[in-house]
Amino acid sequence: MSTPSPAKHREARAAVVSIWVQATTDRQFGTNSYLIEDEDTKDAVIIDANLEPGLMIDLVGKRDANVKAILLTHTDIDHVAGLSALIAELGSIPVAVHDAERHVLTEGKPLRREFGASTGPFENVVNLAEGETFRAGSLEFQVLHTPGHSPGGVTLKIENNLFTGDALFAGSIGRSDFANSNGRALLDGINEKLLTQPDDLVVYSGHGPATTIGRERKTNPFLS
Ligand SMILES: [Zn+2]
Repeated sequence: MSTPSPAKHREARAAVVSIWVQATTDRQFGTNSYLIEDEDTKDAVIIDANLEPGLMIDLVGKRDANVKAILLTHTDIDHVAGLSALIAELGSIPVAVHDAERHVLTEGKPLRREFGASTGPFENVVNLAEGETFRAGSLEFQVLHTPGHSPGGVTLKIENNLFTGDALFAGSIGRSDFANSNGRALLDGINEKLLTQPDDLVVYSGHGPATTIGRERKTNPFLS
């Protein structure tokens, strides 16, 4: 018998999870949404829902990805505006968010008192908690609470990839001039939870190009 047992097959796959990442970017705010897919199982998640959900829906169709959940790095309107359209297309899959911004989704309240815009309310809202693993099909994300740009800002880690939302950008960091921002917390979170990661980890931000932890540690002018 040369056919491997199911248990052995699972073991082999777990050792080499092949993660595929692609961004779609809206033209109004340049906000990135990401499709993250396990190339073996086709299980996938979307991180953030920018203002052009049609781009993401097209990408999901092209990849034939099986989207299990939508994860939010935070709930600024440019990161959640596309949620209704994604859910209408993909069905009522869980939408995961940190507890500190849960009300933005469940009650349809704006995150910022400076802006009126909001979306929702949404029903299938689940929790992203610091230090916990979020599982979506065969994908497993480690949740790092990186607040400061907003109270419930999180970074999501899978394999060699960090999705930092608006905490850390290539060559910059997130705004902290809103009423519910906290510049000290933003820098503390970046220093303690992101810059402590290995140099070769790829950083996928809420806006702009990808970078690495090593490059930001050496060259980001806001972190020296
Ligand atoms: Zn943003």
